[in-house]
Amino acid sequence: MEDHFVYGKGLDHMGLFRKKTERGLSDESGAGQEKSGAVSVDSTSKPSLFQRLRSKLSRTRDGLAGRIDHLFSIRPKIDMETIEDLEQILIESDIGVQQSLSLIRKIKEGLKKKELQDPERIKGLIQEEITKILGIDGQRLNRPEQGPYVIMVIGVNGVGKTTTIAKLAWRFIQQGERVLLAAGDTFRAAAIEQLEIWGQRVGADVVKHQNGADPSAVVFDALKAAESRDAHVVIADTAGRLHTKTNLMEELRKMKRVMGKVIPGAPHDVLLVLDATTGQNALSQARAFHDAVGVTGIILTKLDGTAKGGIVTAIVGELGLPVKLIGIGEGMEDLRDFVPEEFVRALFEQ
Ligand code: GDP
Ligand code: MG
Repeated sequence: MEDHFVYGKGLDHMGLFRKKTERGLSDESGAGQEKSGAVSVDSTSKPSLFQRLRSKLSRTRDGLAGRIDHLFSIRPKIDMETIEDLEQILIESDIGVQQSLSLIRKIKEGLKKKELQDPERIKGLIQEEITKILGIDGQRLNRPEQGPYVIMVIGVNGVGKTTTIAKLAWRFIQQGERVLLAAGDTFRAAAIEQLEIWGQRVGADVVKHQNGADPSAVVFDALKAAESRDAHVVIADTAGRLHTKTNLMEELRKMKRVMGKVIPGAPHDVLLVLDATTGQNALSQARAFHDAVGVTGIILTKLDGTAKGGIVTAIVGELGLPVKLIGIGEGMEDLRDFVPEEFVRALFEQ
């Protein structure tokens, strides 16, 4: 049990722990961080990275795989009733209604052709299909060939925006890049302070105004500073007060416009941070932000603490937005590239 599949096992093969690459994070492999040394900045007596990675996705009886296994254990014979129950489980699992129905259709076809006689084959098909849904184009960061790479990070309060910005900055800095952070959440004084503290920890300069200032002015200054200081990457924090309030969306749109005026093409990525533990709610947040601002990718946080990872399938499948990165803890090293195959394996491994 202690040694069952761990999300992230084998990441070395994918180059996540490779040293500095020429192009940084937009490099094909996703690139990343050094395995030792650098991690120590924030690794005070933590259990090993892999221990914390050990996925909770699949562990509980409430998880998708747990429920499917339970179903097949009480009904090893696959009949229509079993398939109906399976449909129910899929729909309730957060992978999305459309995705579930299309999966059930494929399973029924397979049964008709006598290709799917046993539970393991059915589970295999479900995994394959989910992996396909998750593997849509656009998982790489949209880093421009030249000039500062500007990222805007958005999402509701508490999802992990500021922490994720720090993790992302740290990854770039590990590769020798100069990173500038813009304290665009001017709504609360504590938010500016929090970003400053993280900036100090990871070694990134922070451009800030006082509490209550216009966030567009902050990003304007940050992008100007990036040009004059020759920064490679600028990451802008934003406020996240309730996404249903239109003034927040207007503010975000204005920030985007201002960025594009200072640096044509910016922001190159608008990354929406979603908290995986919120399940269905993450889908409605994604819809609202994407409609209002336009999102280029998702960062799914708190995967270290949830059995609800299935929601990502609904988001990718229904909105067509790729997941670019995942958060698996509170430390600066706890950001990973999203690898659909591994994610699905973690979701299903018992
Ligand atoms: P923001 O309001 O969106 O800026 O959210 P914060 O960055 O302030 O994060 C809110 C809380 O979530 C903090 O306590 C973070 O440490 C925590 N957090 C962020 N990402 C993760 C993650 O991947 N895993 C866990 N367990 N906690 C996280
Ligand atoms: Mg914040």
